[in-house]
Amino acid sequence: RGKRAFIAGVADDNGYGWAIAKALAAAGAEILVGTWVPALNIFETSLRRGKFDESRKLSDGSLMEIVKVYPLDAVYDCPEDVPEDVKANKRYAGSSNWTVKEVAESVKNDFGSIDILVHSLANGPEVTKPLLETSRRGYLAALSASSYSFVSLLQHFLPIMNPGGASISLTYIASERTIPGYGGGMSSAKAALESDTRVLAFEAGRKGKIRVNTISAGPLGSRAAKAIGFIEKMIEYSYVNAPLQKELLADEVGNTAAFLLSPLASAITGSTVYVDNGLNTMGLAI
Ligand code: NAD
Repeated sequence: RGKRAFIAGVADDNGYGWAIAKALAAAGAEILVGTWVPALNIFETSLRRGKFDESRKLSDGSLMEIVKVYPLDAVYDCPEDVPEDVKANKRYAGSSNWTVKEVAESVKNDFGSIDILVHSLANGPEVTKPLLETSRRGYLAALSASSYSFVSLLQHFLPIMNPGGASISLTYIASERTIPGYGGGMSSAKAALESDTRVLAFEAGRKGKIRVNTISAGPLGSRAAKAIGFIEKMIEYSYVNAPLQKELLADEVGNTAAFLLSPLASAITGSTVYVDNGLNTMGLAI
């Protein structure tokens, strides 16, 4: 049978998560997605009304099928963790079973197991603030949504992942080189995510024969990136300075993800793989 993939962090057709879903669908995988609770309604409505049909098209002309959309908020591991004001919030009260533990249980009940886990989500409430001006709360929120969320997802999904399966996350070079403007602890969160990739590769490799890698992606004008505020500048900078002077397509990240998540990459684990037109290799902007 084909592989089954759970992709956390898809809420429209502009981001890396969507492109990864498409590349996996094109390779024959069954697609389940986890969508952030506040974005769930609009995503499902748009899907149903055919707003994404053009971008659901695969190269053979068929449309990517999303078998099921699960509401998810990856900053909460179990119902006991959810504060009262969030529970009472209209958008959250309208859905159920969206903590990480419950989503893993739901997927288990619905499908039994998965082969592929994708983490394509991040959030940093103070991302526009320099680190020097970031509050403890903002910093920890960035780490919770962008780094621990992956630890938690893997922790809860590993027991239902078939041996030989693989997982992946998305990171950014601000973890290792200073990118002024990528603030609020988001640079720290990506550093944690990359370090965790190595440790989790060891632990999940030994425990479940699961591979863990991360893609360090170049700039893309996704919804999340636009919220940071200088994405157009980053795209232009990359275009001018990278070895490959071309637009970076989300599909190029999607294709690399599909490779890393496939048996073609069966000896690759714990790696940070750059998909950035080579920008990371440059030492001097010209
Ligand atoms: P995106 O907006 O498509 O994806 C981010 C998703 O995270 C959104 O769907 C959002 O709803 C979801 N999300 C936020 N908080 C959540 C939570 N608590 N629980 C569940 N979902 C939550 O944007 P993107 O840029 O494609 O981001 C995907 C990944 O790629 C992120 O890890 C991001 O840091 C990484 N990345 C992006 C770029 C870029 O330039 N866009 C570059 C390198 C890495």
